[in-house]
Amino acid sequence: MQICILGAGALGVMTAYFLEQNGHKVTIIERQPEAAMETSFANGGQLSYSHAEPWANPAVLPKIVKWMFKENSPLVLSAKSLTPEMMAWGLKFLGQCTTAKARENTLNILRLALYSRQVMGELRGQTPVEFNFLPNGILHFFTEQTLLEGAIKQAAFQAEYGAPYHVLSAQQCIEKEPALAGLASQLVGGVFHPEDESGDIHYFTKGLAAQLKNTEFHYNTQVVSLERDGRRIRAVRTNKNRIEADRFVMSLGSYSQKFLQPLGIRSNIYPMKGYSISVPINGKKAPNLSITDQGSKIVYSRLGNIFRAAGTAEFAGHDTTITPKRIEHMKSEMKRVFGDCGDFDKATGWACLRPQTPSGAPVLGETPYDNLYLNTGHGTLGWTLGAGSAKIVADMIEGKSTAISLSGLTL
Ligand SMILES: Cc1cc2nc3c(=O)[nH]c(=O)nc-3n(C[C@H](O)[C@H](O)[C@H](O)COP(=O)(O)OP(=O)(O)OC[C@H]3O[C@@H](n4cnc5c(N)ncnc54)[C@H](O)[C@@H]3O)c2cc1C
Repeated sequence: MQICILGAGALGVMTAYFLEQNGHKVTIIERQPEAAMETSFANGGQLSYSHAEPWANPAVLPKIVKWMFKENSPLVLSAKSLTPEMMAWGLKFLGQCTTAKARENTLNILRLALYSRQVMGELRGQTPVEFNFLPNGILHFFTEQTLLEGAIKQAAFQAEYGAPYHVLSAQQCIEKEPALAGLASQLVGGVFHPEDESGDIHYFTKGLAAQLKNTEFHYNTQVVSLERDGRRIRAVRTNKNRIEADRFVMSLGSYSQKFLQPLGIRSNIYPMKGYSISVPINGKKAPNLSITDQGSKIVYSRLGNIFRAAGTAEFAGHDTTITPKRIEHMKSEMKRVFGDCGDFDKATGWACLRPQTPSGAPVLGETPYDNLYLNTGHGTLGWTLGAGSAKIVADMIEGKSTAISLSGLTL
């Protein structure tokens, strides 16, 4: 079959990989000059299969109020951002914050995450892509007892469904990752997820794209609209040409809804801006473990000679402007936690939009159009859930049954 994928981010490129493997001829349309230049460019690097708890949960409600009035908080919500579209999304988000919904969403995300871990392992075995992969686990550290207790409860719940964890004392956290020694007096403990991993999403996606021999990349090409014919998509119109195909896959990340809306499809995807800094390590002492600071909601990963921090959920529509004070805040957090771990004068800042659904789960598979499939809406976890999602969508296009239940993971 001739299959056209919209978007060469991590999700689009991984989907192309599996479709190529199934013998299809793939075309990818991408507005950037190469793959993984937008949200799949400089993210937190975590393959955090065990971090399945969505942002929408009962514990987040009191925090949202606190964060709204705090400078440098993990959530940034300005009066300007309160558009009708954002408020409609926000109400749906609040609807997902019940104990029952959070539990259901956690299990749906976890099922996909564990499958994704397996598929990512296979993919790594099949493709010699260098992406500063570290299979060392992820350590969540805590400086507040109540947060630690909540995390242990969550980890114990997830362990029943296959995500192992170890509870660590403050001293054990430092033994596991000596770069945390400067925090000794504040640490109350940690939760270590031994099966989690990390790596550079940009290198991986770009490297994988370079290996696709049966895929035609149309870079520097802007999708303009999808042309429909009854219950089918006939073609994609771009600023350069018109591309027909037997099947289409929507992987435009935070821009997916813009093209789904005219087709009458509601994906509930809304952009949630995040920031990262990349600091050259230059022989200084940076951690070898990927780390999550649950208090500030900042994640840290070592990616070769770069030490990356990423976080913040800012609602600003599709505005990707970098607000300098958020970058400065991330630098000061990195210094506070790890001390003199890199060359901060040479740090580069970045911001981009997570394609976020209210439940935190992506939107995979079929649509009301017979030949249009979705692989989008992965929010904070697109790197983690990417390989499994791509395999699932490729299997669906093949007409095969999927390896896991898709309950809660479709339109
Ligand atoms: C700060 C931050 C930290 C993160 N940390 C992590 C992490 O540690 N672990 C994790 O699992 N996830 C993380 N994420 C989330 C993850 O990066 C995303 O979920 C993932 O990259 C989304 O991939 P995608 O392919 O859906 O979107 P994208 O990578 O954005 O791909 C969509 C593509 O569509 C293209 N496009 C858009 N519109 C058009 C158009 N009209 N025409 C043509 N092309 C178009 C874009 O150029 C882009 O290349 C983080 C995100 C952010 C912002």
